[in-house]
Amino acid sequence: MYPDYLAGYVKQVERTRPKRLELALTGEPVFPPMTAAEREDVLTKYHPDYSKGAKRPVRVGPNKGEEMTTEVAVLMEAHSMIRPKLLELGLREPDYETDLLIIGGGGAGCWAAITAARQGVKSLIATKLRIGDANTMMSEGGMQAAVSRTDSPTRHYLDAMGGGHFENDPALVRVLTEDAPEVVRELENLGVIWDKEPDGSMQVLHGGGTSRKRMVSCRDYIGAVIMRTLMDEVRNHPDLISIREFEPAVELILDENGHCAGAVLYSLDTEQFLIVRAKATIIATGGFGRLHIRGFATTNHYGATGDGLVMAYRAGAKLKFMDSVQYHPTGAVFPEQIAGFLITEKIRGAGGQPLNRFGELFVFPREPRDVESAAIIRECSHDRNNGIDTYVGRTGVWLDSPIIDMIHGEGYIRRQFPGMCRQFSRFGIDITKEPMLIYPSLHYQNGGIAINERCETSIPGLYVAGEASGGVHGRNRLMGNSVLDYNVFGRRAGHYATEYARTAKLGRLSLEHIAEHARALKREGIDTDMISPLILPSYTPEDVKIQQLARLGNIPAMHSMLRSRFTPEERRTRP
Ligand SMILES: Cc1cc2nc3c(=O)[nH]c(=O)nc-3n(C[C@H](O)[C@H](O)[C@H](O)COP(=O)(O)OP(=O)(O)OC[C@H]3O[C@@H](n4cnc5c(N)ncnc54)[C@H](O)[C@@H]3O)c2cc1C
Repeated sequence: MYPDYLAGYVKQVERTRPKRLELALTGEPVFPPMTAAEREDVLTKYHPDYSKGAKRPVRVGPNKGEEMTTEVAVLMEAHSMIRPKLLELGLREPDYETDLLIIGGGGAGCWAAITAARQGVKSLIATKLRIGDANTMMSEGGMQAAVSRTDSPTRHYLDAMGGGHFENDPALVRVLTEDAPEVVRELENLGVIWDKEPDGSMQVLHGGGTSRKRMVSCRDYIGAVIMRTLMDEVRNHPDLISIREFEPAVELILDENGHCAGAVLYSLDTEQFLIVRAKATIIATGGFGRLHIRGFATTNHYGATGDGLVMAYRAGAKLKFMDSVQYHPTGAVFPEQIAGFLITEKIRGAGGQPLNRFGELFVFPREPRDVESAAIIRECSHDRNNGIDTYVGRTGVWLDSPIIDMIHGEGYIRRQFPGMCRQFSRFGIDITKEPMLIYPSLHYQNGGIAINERCETSIPGLYVAGEASGGVHGRNRLMGNSVLDYNVFGRRAGHYATEYARTAKLGRLSLEHIAEHARALKREGIDTDMISPLILPSYTPEDVKIQQLARLGNIPAMHSMLRSRFTPEERRTRP
């Protein structure tokens, strides 16, 4: 039940529903899809990537001079957490030695470890929180794979390229789409229970930008099902896979020949730095939703702070498409406790309709994500003023979910979206009877560390897989291609890194690239108090932070970290 001030708007949705339902049942588009020119127009005027100050050239590193999302450029120009001189002894006597170091315990990381173990190679997964505390666990809607009779990897390829505005790396898209049916089989062999039709064939649904029904799913919690399966499989190989939890990596280590040779970990328990020496290293650290770019709420898990980007960049790897961010069109706006929470695109795939305050459709429900998000932002902007405001100052539009049961028959929503029903019912909202209030939410990184089909970077011995990598989605990922991405490239990274590790010979370990980064900041006259990787986002208000630090008697030591969170103006006026 919505509070009285919103209930009146819900009535508008109910008023327009019979006509909208009639149209939906004809099978015709319920709203005219945009032309290419209209898409371009709404993107440039309303997508946050195009707003003032959204991007700026980065001043150091392999992408120097290229535009990056401002919040990312700031991280690339920040100081390292470590001082190389203090870790010299550790470099000579590492804390851990392994064939493969896998940084990140989400889907890509687990797949890499499983693949290496199948080839008899030892790996160590170092992860920030617990294994499986990851975006992978949270994914909801589904995974794209051309498994139906009317579909093919070629069609999937064309859709993915179109969604990415034809800027994607064609070689990466090719392996993504060709490996997909095999990934579906492989996951089923490991224990994933897919949604099936009564005749035993895979159930497939539409997602935004797909020309065929191609989304395979596990109700609306595909992430929990796959992540649990992969974690079980990782734990089936205790002799070959070791796991270090709460030990995030903070810098990569190179050897004297410039090959990747492991990483420096930071124990969140003991606050010690630990050295891992590894013949090959895989970055599988996921995305950066917790940077709250442009102040947006996020769908992402707590550890998604873009650490892999920072570490790889400092070591000399090039980044791709870092001027683009994906905002998911449908993040929750009400209730406030779940602001930003993802409402899966599968809801629109099943017939859910976005509506303004008058209960009117204003956009085709399955435009590609960037276009759909921009159209929702336009509807809520001062230009149209058709959004619905909440008492805490958020604005959104409705996503009409009850219409789904009217299209597919009663019980469909509860069967297909149990996770979503449960999440809203905790706050007294029954989404089979009432719509959801939504607004775009910061969701996905789009770009990342440049790789080839073997997941290799420009640094020998350094591999990347999953959301941390860049190229496969261009500047806009389609729904379902990211779950596919970490499955396809997690396996590939495990395979090729294993091949490399079998013959790799490491030279003397070095952190010279960190010292060089510090010199580059100086040369460019960059005056910053920022330290990266961030490891965890901070939501502590400044006054509370000062009190905490003062109580610990720790203000001088933490001074730079404290100041980094003040604006220059606040810094000048702070006592
Ligand atoms: C709510 C939600 C719903 C989604 N739904 C879908 C969907 O339906 N379909 C789809 O295709 N995609 C979906 N996605 C996107 C998709 O789930 C992710 O892009 C994908 O799972 C990323 O997998 P990954 O293994 O690359 O990263 P993750 O699964 O995020 O794993 C990264 C891991 O690295 C760890 N880590 C981070 N930094 C460090 C560090 N410094 N040191 C050590 N470890 C570190 C993290 O803690 C985490 O364990 C969704 C995402 C979210 C957030």
